Amino acid sequence: MDAAGSSPEMLWQSALGTLENMVGRLAYETIFRCIRPLSLGEGEFVLGVSNQFAKEWLESRYLPTVTRCLNQAAGEPVAVRITICDAVPAPSPPIESQAPMVPSPVVLDENFGSTPLNPKYTFDRFVEGNSNRFAHALALHVARGGGAGVQATPLFIWGGVGLGKTHLMQAIAHHVLEHQPHRRIVYVQAETFVNQILRAIRDGNTSEFRATHRNVDVWLVDDVQFIAAKEGTRSEEEFFHTFNTLYQTGKHIVMSSDQPPRGLRILDERLRSRFESGAIADIKPPDVVERIAILQKKASFAGTEVPIDVLDHIANITWNIRTIEGALISLLAYASLQGEAITLEVAQEVLKDYASGEGKHQVTLDNIVKLISDRFGISKEDLNSKKRSRNIVFPRQIAMYLARQLTSDSLMVIGKAFGGRDHSTVLHSCGKISRLMATDDATVGLVNELMSQVQTP
Ligand code: ADP
Ligand code: MG
Repeated sequence: MDAAGSSPEMLWQSALGTLENMVGRLAYETIFRCIRPLSLGEGEFVLGVSNQFAKEWLESRYLPTVTRCLNQAAGEPVAVRITICDAVPAPSPPIESQAPMVPSPVVLDENFGSTPLNPKYTFDRFVEGNSNRFAHALALHVARGGGAGVQATPLFIWGGVGLGKTHLMQAIAHHVLEHQPHRRIVYVQAETFVNQILRAIRDGNTSEFRATHRNVDVWLVDDVQFIAAKEGTRSEEEFFHTFNTLYQTGKHIVMSSDQPPRGLRILDERLRSRFESGAIADIKPPDVVERIAILQKKASFAGTEVPIDVLDHIANITWNIRTIEGALISLLAYASLQGEAITLEVAQEVLKDYASGEGKHQVTLDNIVKLISDRFGISKEDLNSKKRSRNIVFPRQIAMYLARQLTSDSLMVIGKAFGGRDHSTVLHSCGKISRLMATDDATVGLVNELMSQVQTP
Protein backbone atom coordinates (compact mmCIF):
# COMPACT_ATOMS: atom_id res chain seq x y z
CA MET A 1 0.00 0.00 0.00
CA ASP A 2 1.28 3.45 -0.81
CA ALA A 3 0.95 6.03 1.94
CA ALA A 4 0.21 8.83 -0.53
CA GLY A 5 -2.85 7.05 -1.88
CA SER A 6 -4.36 5.91 1.42
CA SER A 7 -6.40 7.69 4.02
CA PRO A 8 -5.05 7.77 7.58
CA GLU A 9 -8.08 5.69 8.55
CA MET A 10 -7.25 2.90 6.07
CA LEU A 11 -3.60 2.80 7.02
CA TRP A 12 -4.43 2.73 10.69
CA GLN A 13 -6.91 -0.11 10.26
CA SER A 14 -4.31 -2.07 8.38
CA ALA A 15 -1.71 -1.45 11.07
CA LEU A 16 -4.25 -2.37 13.75
CA GLY A 17 -4.64 -5.79 12.18
CA THR A 18 -0.96 -6.44 12.82
CA LEU A 19 -0.91 -4.76 16.20
CA GLU A 20 -3.70 -6.96 17.44
CA ASN A 21 -1.38 -9.95 17.28
CA MET A 22 1.51 -8.14 18.84
CA VAL A 23 0.36 -6.21 21.85
CA GLY A 24 -1.77 -8.64 23.79
CA ARG A 25 -5.55 -8.69 24.09
CA LEU A 26 -5.88 -6.47 27.13
CA ALA A 27 -3.80 -3.64 25.73
CA TYR A 28 -5.52 -3.97 22.38
CA GLU A 29 -9.05 -3.78 23.75
CA THR A 30 -8.46 -1.06 26.31
CA ILE A 31 -6.13 1.29 24.48
CA PHE A 32 -5.50 0.46 20.86
CA ARG A 33 -9.12 0.17 19.79
CA CYS A 34 -9.72 3.69 21.15
CA ILE A 35 -6.92 5.39 19.23
CA ARG A 36 -8.04 7.76 16.53
CA PRO A 37 -6.01 8.30 13.35
CA LEU A 38 -6.04 12.09 12.97
CA SER A 39 -3.83 13.03 10.07
CA LEU A 40 -1.02 12.00 7.80
CA GLY A 41 1.20 14.54 6.10
CA GLU A 42 4.87 15.14 5.37
CA GLY A 43 5.86 11.78 6.73
CA GLU A 44 4.14 12.31 10.06
CA PHE A 45 1.25 10.25 11.27
CA VAL A 46 -0.73 11.79 14.12
CA LEU A 47 -2.72 9.55 16.42
CA GLY A 48 -5.23 10.85 18.95
CA VAL A 49 -5.96 9.43 22.38
CA SER A 50 -8.34 10.68 25.03
CA ASN A 51 -6.08 11.28 28.00
CA GLN A 52 -2.58 11.89 29.25
CA PHE A 53 -2.30 8.43 30.74
CA ALA A 54 -2.98 6.69 27.43
CA LYS A 55 -0.55 9.05 25.70
CA GLU A 56 2.28 8.39 28.12
CA TRP A 57 1.61 4.72 28.19
CA LEU A 58 1.71 4.43 24.41
CA GLU A 59 4.78 6.61 24.12
CA SER A 60 6.75 4.82 26.75
CA ARG A 61 5.86 1.28 25.78
CA TYR A 62 4.55 0.95 22.27
CA LEU A 63 5.89 3.75 20.11
CA PRO A 64 8.49 1.62 18.27
CA THR A 65 5.97 -1.17 17.71
CA VAL A 66 3.26 1.18 16.45
CA THR A 67 5.76 2.94 14.21
CA ARG A 68 6.96 -0.34 12.75
CA CYS A 69 3.42 -1.49 11.98
CA LEU A 70 2.48 1.82 10.41
CA ASN A 71 5.65 1.85 8.31
CA GLN A 72 4.81 -1.61 7.13
CA ALA A 73 1.25 -0.62 6.29
CA ALA A 74 2.35 2.57 4.56
CA GLY A 75 5.21 0.96 2.71
CA GLU A 76 7.39 3.94 3.61
CA PRO A 77 8.78 5.47 6.77
CA VAL A 78 6.39 7.63 8.75
CA ALA A 79 7.07 9.21 12.11
CA VAL A 80 4.34 8.71 14.67
CA ARG A 81 3.18 11.45 17.01
CA ILE A 82 0.61 10.94 19.73
CA THR A 83 -1.61 13.74 20.84
CA ILE A 84 -4.59 14.18 23.13
CA CYS A 85 -7.87 14.90 21.38
CA ASP A 86 -11.34 15.47 22.83
CA ALA A 87 -13.71 13.09 21.20
CA VAL A 88 -12.54 9.58 20.74
CA PRO A 89 -15.42 7.61 19.29
CA ALA A 90 -16.37 4.26 20.66
CA PRO A 91 -14.18 1.62 19.08
CA SER A 92 -15.53 0.16 15.87
CA PRO A 93 -14.58 -3.28 14.62
CA PRO A 94 -11.64 -3.11 12.22
CA ILE A 95 -12.56 -3.25 8.55
CA GLU A 96 -10.95 -5.92 6.41
CA SER A 97 -7.68 -4.64 5.06
CA GLN A 98 -7.26 -4.86 1.31
CA ALA A 99 -3.51 -4.95 1.50
CA PRO A 100 -1.96 -8.40 1.64
CA MET A 101 -0.63 -8.63 5.15
CA VAL A 102 2.98 -9.55 5.62
CA PRO A 103 3.06 -12.24 8.32
CA SER A 104 3.44 -10.31 11.51
CA PRO A 105 6.59 -10.77 13.53
CA VAL A 106 5.90 -12.35 16.85
CA VAL A 107 6.70 -9.95 19.65
CA LEU A 108 5.11 -11.07 22.80
CA ASP A 109 2.90 -9.09 25.09
CA GLU A 110 5.05 -6.67 27.00
CA ASN A 111 3.21 -7.46 30.21
CA PHE A 112 4.89 -10.81 30.22
CA GLY A 113 7.58 -10.67 27.63
CA SER A 114 9.63 -8.28 25.61
CA THR A 115 11.15 -5.03 26.68
CA PRO A 116 10.81 -2.48 23.82
CA LEU A 117 13.78 -2.40 21.46
CA ASN A 118 15.89 0.62 20.60
CA PRO A 119 15.54 0.99 16.81
CA LYS A 120 19.18 2.11 16.55
CA TYR A 121 20.66 -1.02 18.07
CA THR A 122 21.07 -2.95 14.83
CA PHE A 123 23.99 -4.90 13.37
CA ASP A 124 24.61 -2.32 10.67
CA ARG A 125 25.24 0.33 13.33
CA PHE A 126 27.54 -1.89 15.35
CA VAL A 127 31.26 -1.58 14.72
CA GLU A 128 33.13 -4.82 14.86
CA GLY A 129 36.67 -4.74 16.23
CA ASN A 130 39.23 -6.68 18.21
CA SER A 131 37.46 -5.96 21.47
CA ASN A 132 34.19 -7.58 20.42
CA ARG A 133 34.93 -9.74 17.38
CA PHE A 134 34.05 -13.08 18.92
CA ALA A 135 30.89 -11.82 20.63
CA HIS A 136 29.79 -10.13 17.41
CA ALA A 137 30.41 -13.26 15.30
CA LEU A 138 28.48 -15.47 17.68
CA ALA A 139 25.61 -12.99 17.95
CA LEU A 140 25.34 -12.88 14.17
CA HIS A 141 25.46 -16.65 14.04
CA VAL A 142 22.53 -16.93 16.44
CA ALA A 143 20.62 -14.18 14.62
CA ARG A 144 20.91 -16.13 11.38
CA GLY A 145 19.52 -19.25 12.95
CA GLY A 146 22.56 -20.99 14.40
CA GLY A 147 23.59 -24.46 13.39
CA ALA A 148 26.57 -25.36 11.20
CA GLY A 149 28.40 -27.17 13.95
CA VAL A 150 28.97 -24.12 16.12
CA GLN A 151 27.79 -24.70 19.67
CA ALA A 152 26.40 -21.23 20.30
CA THR A 153 23.56 -21.85 22.67
CA PRO A 154 23.42 -20.82 25.34
CA LEU A 155 25.49 -17.83 24.33
CA PHE A 156 26.84 -15.87 27.28
CA ILE A 157 28.17 -12.38 26.49
CA TRP A 158 29.81 -10.46 29.29
CA GLY A 159 31.69 -7.18 29.70
CA GLY A 160 31.78 -3.82 31.46
CA VAL A 161 29.22 -1.04 31.40
CA GLY A 162 28.68 0.75 28.10
CA LEU A 163 30.60 -1.67 25.91
CA GLY A 164 27.76 -2.71 23.60
CA LYS A 165 26.14 -5.77 25.22
CA THR A 166 22.62 -4.43 24.97
CA HIS A 167 23.29 -3.17 21.46
CA LEU A 168 24.37 -6.67 20.37
CA MET A 169 21.46 -8.43 22.09
CA GLN A 170 18.93 -6.11 20.48
CA ALA A 171 20.68 -6.45 17.11
CA ILE A 172 19.90 -10.16 17.27
CA ALA A 173 16.26 -9.32 17.98
CA HIS A 174 16.01 -6.84 15.10
CA HIS A 175 17.67 -9.26 12.71
CA VAL A 176 15.30 -12.09 13.60
CA LEU A 177 12.24 -9.81 13.40
CA GLU A 178 13.30 -8.68 9.96
CA HIS A 179 14.52 -11.89 8.38
CA GLN A 180 12.70 -14.70 10.16
CA PRO A 181 9.47 -13.19 11.41
CA HIS A 182 8.05 -16.63 12.15
CA ARG A 183 10.58 -17.21 14.94
CA ARG A 184 9.09 -16.28 18.26
CA ILE A 185 11.38 -14.00 20.17
CA VAL A 186 11.55 -12.44 23.59
CA TYR A 187 14.07 -9.79 24.56
CA VAL A 188 13.86 -9.02 28.23
CA GLN A 189 15.99 -7.32 30.82
CA ALA A 190 16.61 -9.76 33.63
CA GLU A 191 15.43 -7.22 36.13
CA THR A 192 12.12 -6.91 34.31
CA PHE A 193 11.90 -10.69 34.27
CA VAL A 194 12.35 -10.76 38.02
CA ASN A 195 9.76 -8.04 38.58
CA GLN A 196 7.32 -9.79 36.26
CA ILE A 197 7.70 -13.13 37.95
CA LEU A 198 7.27 -11.62 41.40
CA ARG A 199 4.14 -9.84 40.20
CA ALA A 200 2.79 -12.98 38.55
CA ILE A 201 3.31 -14.90 41.78
CA ARG A 202 1.52 -12.18 43.73
CA ASP A 203 -1.37 -12.05 41.23
CA GLY A 204 -1.58 -15.80 40.93
CA ASN A 205 -1.08 -15.96 37.16
CA THR A 206 2.26 -17.67 36.89
CA SER A 207 1.00 -20.11 34.28
CA GLU A 208 0.48 -17.30 31.75
CA PHE A 209 3.93 -16.01 32.55
CA ARG A 210 5.47 -19.42 32.06
CA ALA A 211 3.63 -20.05 28.82
CA THR A 212 4.99 -16.80 27.41
CA HIS A 213 8.59 -17.39 28.31
CA ARG A 214 8.72 -21.08 27.57
CA ASN A 215 7.14 -20.85 24.17
CA VAL A 216 9.82 -18.96 22.29
CA ASP A 217 12.49 -19.78 19.71
CA VAL A 218 14.98 -17.10 20.68
CA TRP A 219 15.19 -16.00 24.30
CA LEU A 220 17.36 -12.96 24.92
CA VAL A 221 17.95 -12.04 28.55
CA ASP A 222 19.98 -8.90 29.19
CA ASP A 223 21.95 -8.30 32.40
CA VAL A 224 21.44 -11.72 33.99
CA GLN A 225 23.48 -10.65 37.00
CA PHE A 226 20.14 -9.37 38.32
CA ILE A 227 18.72 -12.87 38.47
CA ALA A 228 21.05 -13.36 41.40
CA ALA A 229 19.47 -14.56 44.55
CA LYS A 230 18.99 -11.23 46.28
CA GLU A 231 15.29 -11.21 45.37
CA GLY A 232 14.89 -14.60 47.02
CA THR A 233 15.37 -17.91 45.32
CA ARG A 234 11.99 -17.91 43.62
CA SER A 235 13.02 -15.82 40.63
CA GLU A 236 16.22 -17.78 40.21
CA GLU A 237 14.24 -21.00 40.32
CA GLU A 238 11.76 -19.74 37.76
CA PHE A 239 14.60 -18.61 35.54
CA PHE A 240 16.24 -22.01 35.85
CA HIS A 241 13.07 -23.86 34.79
CA THR A 242 12.47 -21.61 31.82
CA PHE A 243 16.09 -21.93 30.84
CA ASN A 244 15.92 -25.72 31.03
CA THR A 245 12.72 -25.99 29.04
CA LEU A 246 14.19 -23.95 26.22
CA TYR A 247 17.61 -25.55 26.45
CA GLN A 248 16.26 -29.07 26.26
CA THR A 249 14.21 -28.29 23.18
CA GLY A 250 17.23 -26.79 21.42
CA LYS A 251 16.03 -23.19 21.38
CA HIS A 252 18.40 -20.28 21.20
CA ILE A 253 19.27 -18.65 24.49
CA VAL A 254 21.44 -15.56 24.67
CA MET A 255 22.38 -13.88 27.91
CA SER A 256 24.45 -10.85 28.78
CA SER A 257 26.07 -10.02 32.07
CA ASP A 258 28.60 -7.67 33.63
CA GLN A 259 30.41 -10.73 35.03
CA PRO A 260 31.53 -14.07 33.67
CA PRO A 261 29.36 -16.97 34.91
CA ARG A 262 31.81 -17.82 37.67
CA GLY A 263 31.51 -14.29 39.08
CA LEU A 264 27.73 -14.37 39.41
CA ARG A 265 26.10 -14.56 42.79
CA ILE A 266 23.74 -17.42 42.08
CA LEU A 267 22.69 -20.04 44.54
CA ASP A 268 22.10 -22.94 42.24
CA GLU A 269 25.38 -24.35 40.94
CA ARG A 270 23.48 -26.24 38.23
CA LEU A 271 22.47 -22.93 36.74
CA ARG A 272 26.07 -21.74 36.67
CA SER A 273 27.26 -24.87 34.93
CA ARG A 274 24.44 -24.52 32.39
CA PHE A 275 25.63 -20.97 31.68
CA GLU A 276 29.07 -22.36 31.02
CA SER A 277 27.88 -25.17 28.79
CA GLY A 278 27.64 -23.17 25.57
CA ALA A 279 29.72 -20.32 24.20
CA ILE A 280 31.13 -17.58 26.42
CA ALA A 281 32.35 -14.38 24.79
CA ASP A 282 33.61 -11.30 26.52
CA ILE A 283 33.67 -7.74 25.25
CA LYS A 284 36.71 -5.72 26.25
CA PRO A 285 37.08 -1.96 26.30
CA PRO A 286 37.82 -0.87 22.71
CA ASP A 287 41.16 0.74 21.92
CA VAL A 288 41.30 4.25 20.57
CA VAL A 289 41.23 3.14 16.92
CA GLU A 290 38.02 1.21 17.47
CA ARG A 291 36.54 4.10 19.40
CA ILE A 292 37.24 6.41 16.47
CA ALA A 293 35.55 3.93 14.12
CA ILE A 294 32.50 3.81 16.37
CA LEU A 295 32.28 7.60 16.54
CA GLN A 296 32.67 7.83 12.80
CA LYS A 297 29.76 5.49 12.26
CA LYS A 298 27.58 7.38 14.75
CA ALA A 299 28.40 10.66 13.01
CA SER A 300 27.66 9.30 9.57
CA PHE A 301 24.28 7.93 10.71
CA ALA A 302 23.61 11.42 12.06
CA GLY A 303 24.33 12.69 8.56
CA THR A 304 27.47 14.63 9.47
CA GLU A 305 31.05 14.20 8.49
CA VAL A 306 33.41 14.94 11.36
CA PRO A 307 37.13 15.53 10.73
CA ILE A 308 39.40 12.78 11.95
CA ASP A 309 41.36 14.99 14.37
CA VAL A 310 38.08 15.87 16.09
CA LEU A 311 37.09 12.20 16.32
CA ASP A 312 40.51 11.44 17.73
CA HIS A 313 40.07 14.15 20.36
CA ILE A 314 36.69 12.79 21.45
CA ALA A 315 37.86 9.17 21.40
CA ASN A 316 40.59 10.10 23.87
CA ILE A 317 38.19 11.40 26.49
CA THR A 318 37.53 7.95 27.93
CA TRP A 319 37.12 4.31 26.91
CA ASN A 320 33.44 4.35 27.83
CA ILE A 321 31.53 4.40 24.54
CA ARG A 322 28.40 5.80 26.07
CA THR A 323 30.31 8.83 27.34
CA ILE A 324 32.13 9.59 24.10
CA GLU A 325 28.91 9.14 22.19
CA GLY A 326 27.36 11.75 24.49
CA ALA A 327 30.28 14.09 23.80
CA LEU A 328 29.84 13.65 20.07
CA ILE A 329 26.12 14.42 20.32
CA SER A 330 26.79 17.58 22.35
CA LEU A 331 29.30 18.71 19.76
CA LEU A 332 26.98 18.04 16.81
CA ALA A 333 24.14 19.84 18.59
CA TYR A 334 26.37 22.83 19.33
CA ALA A 335 27.70 23.06 15.78
CA SER A 336 24.28 22.86 14.21
CA LEU A 337 22.75 25.42 16.57
CA GLN A 338 25.61 27.87 16.15
CA GLY A 339 26.01 27.15 12.45
CA GLU A 340 29.69 26.56 13.03
CA ALA A 341 31.97 24.15 11.24
CA ILE A 342 33.22 21.30 13.36
CA THR A 343 36.91 21.91 13.88
CA LEU A 344 39.35 20.73 16.50
CA GLU A 345 39.32 24.18 18.13
CA VAL A 346 35.54 24.17 18.39
CA ALA A 347 35.58 20.62 19.79
CA GLN A 348 38.23 21.49 22.38
CA GLU A 349 36.24 24.50 23.49
CA VAL A 350 32.85 22.80 23.60
CA LEU A 351 34.13 19.66 25.27
CA LYS A 352 36.55 21.32 27.68
CA ASP A 353 34.60 20.09 30.69
CA TYR A 354 35.25 16.54 29.74
CA ALA A 355 38.48 15.62 31.44
CA SER A 356 40.55 14.04 28.74
CA GLY A 357 42.89 11.13 28.97
CA GLU A 358 43.57 8.50 31.55
CA GLY A 359 42.50 8.16 35.12
CA LYS A 360 38.76 7.64 34.89
CA HIS A 361 37.52 5.67 37.83
CA GLN A 362 34.56 3.44 38.57
CA VAL A 363 31.70 5.63 39.72
CA THR A 364 29.81 4.72 42.88
CA LEU A 365 26.43 5.86 44.15
CA ASP A 366 28.20 7.83 46.89
CA ASN A 367 30.14 9.75 44.24
CA ILE A 368 26.88 10.65 42.54
CA VAL A 369 25.15 11.70 45.76
CA LYS A 370 28.07 13.99 46.61
CA LEU A 371 28.25 15.45 43.11
CA ILE A 372 24.55 16.24 42.92
CA SER A 373 24.29 17.67 46.40
CA ASP A 374 27.33 19.92 45.80
CA ARG A 375 26.12 20.99 42.39
CA PHE A 376 22.53 21.79 43.32
CA GLY A 377 23.21 22.88 46.89
CA ILE A 378 20.86 20.41 48.50
CA SER A 379 21.67 18.16 51.39
CA LYS A 380 22.29 14.45 51.05
CA GLU A 381 19.37 13.89 53.40
CA ASP A 382 16.99 15.80 51.12
CA LEU A 383 18.23 13.88 48.10
CA ASN A 384 17.55 10.66 49.94
CA SER A 385 14.19 11.84 51.30
CA LYS A 386 10.71 11.47 49.86
CA LYS A 387 10.28 15.25 49.55
CA ARG A 388 8.58 16.26 46.32
CA SER A 389 9.46 19.94 46.03
CA ARG A 390 10.65 20.96 42.58
CA ASN A 391 14.14 22.00 43.57
CA ILE A 392 14.75 18.51 44.87
CA VAL A 393 12.84 16.38 42.38
CA PHE A 394 14.84 17.38 39.31
CA PRO A 395 18.31 16.87 40.88
CA ARG A 396 17.10 13.55 42.22
CA GLN A 397 15.97 12.49 38.75
CA ILE A 398 19.32 13.51 37.30
CA ALA A 399 21.06 11.55 40.04
CA MET A 400 19.07 8.42 39.24
CA TYR A 401 19.80 8.85 35.56
CA LEU A 402 23.55 9.15 36.22
CA ALA A 403 23.45 6.14 38.52
CA ARG A 404 21.74 4.09 35.85
CA GLN A 405 24.23 5.15 33.18
CA LEU A 406 27.44 4.96 35.14
CA THR A 407 27.07 2.25 37.75
CA SER A 408 25.90 -1.31 37.46
CA ASP A 409 23.68 -1.06 40.52
CA SER A 410 20.19 -2.46 40.17
CA LEU A 411 17.08 -0.32 39.96
CA MET A 412 16.22 -1.47 43.45
CA VAL A 413 19.54 -0.33 44.90
CA ILE A 414 19.38 2.99 43.06
CA GLY A 415 15.79 3.47 44.26
CA LYS A 416 16.88 2.91 47.85
CA ALA A 417 19.71 5.40 47.54
CA PHE A 418 17.29 8.10 46.46
CA GLY A 419 14.42 8.13 48.86
CA GLY A 420 13.61 4.45 49.30
CA ARG A 421 11.60 4.45 46.10
CA ASP A 422 10.90 1.35 44.12
CA HIS A 423 12.28 0.37 40.74
CA SER A 424 9.47 2.00 38.76
CA THR A 425 10.33 5.45 40.14
CA VAL A 426 13.87 4.98 38.88
CA LEU A 427 12.67 3.92 35.43
CA HIS A 428 10.26 6.83 35.36
CA SER A 429 13.00 9.31 36.32
CA CYS A 430 15.44 7.96 33.75
CA GLY A 431 12.74 8.10 31.07
CA LYS A 432 11.97 11.67 32.01
CA ILE A 433 15.60 12.78 31.71
CA SER A 434 16.13 10.89 28.43
CA ARG A 435 13.06 12.53 26.93
CA LEU A 436 14.21 15.92 28.10
CA MET A 437 17.63 15.31 26.60
CA ALA A 438 16.04 14.49 23.26
CA THR A 439 14.63 18.02 23.00
CA ASP A 440 16.64 20.20 25.33
CA ASP A 441 20.30 20.90 24.71
CA ALA A 442 20.75 22.54 28.10
CA THR A 443 19.95 19.24 29.78
CA VAL A 444 22.30 17.38 27.44
CA GLY A 445 25.04 19.82 28.38
CA LEU A 446 24.32 19.54 32.09
CA VAL A 447 24.25 15.75 32.08
CA ASN A 448 27.42 15.46 30.04
CA GLU A 449 29.25 17.86 32.26
CA LEU A 450 28.16 16.04 35.42
CA MET A 451 29.11 12.72 33.90
CA SER A 452 32.58 13.85 33.08
CA GLN A 453 33.01 15.45 36.51
CA VAL A 454 31.98 12.38 38.42
CA GLN A 455 34.25 10.15 36.38
CA THR A 456 37.29 12.25 37.08
CA PRO A 457 39.02 11.29 40.30
P1 ADP B 1 26.10 -2.18 27.69
O1 ADP B 1 24.78 -2.86 27.50
O2 ADP B 1 27.27 -3.10 27.49
O3 ADP B 1 26.20 -1.41 28.96
P2 ADP B 1 25.22 -0.62 25.40
O4 ADP B 1 24.91 -1.74 24.47
O5 ADP B 1 24.08 0.06 26.04
O6 ADP B 1 26.26 -1.11 26.52
O7 ADP B 1 26.14 0.43 24.62
C1 ADP B 1 26.34 1.75 25.05
C2 ADP B 1 26.39 2.67 23.84
O8 ADP B 1 27.56 2.41 23.10
C3 ADP B 1 25.23 2.46 22.89
O9 ADP B 1 24.81 3.70 22.40
C4 ADP B 1 25.82 1.61 21.79
O10 ADP B 1 25.18 1.88 20.55
C5 ADP B 1 27.25 2.07 21.76
N1 ADP B 1 28.16 1.01 21.33
C6 ADP B 1 28.83 0.13 22.12
N2 ADP B 1 29.60 -0.68 21.38
C7 ADP B 1 29.44 -0.32 20.10
C8 ADP B 1 29.98 -0.77 18.86
N3 ADP B 1 30.88 -1.76 18.81
N4 ADP B 1 29.57 -0.16 17.73
C9 ADP B 1 28.68 0.85 17.78
N5 ADP B 1 28.15 1.34 18.92
C10 ADP B 1 28.51 0.77 20.07
MG1 MG C 1 23.13 -2.99 28.74
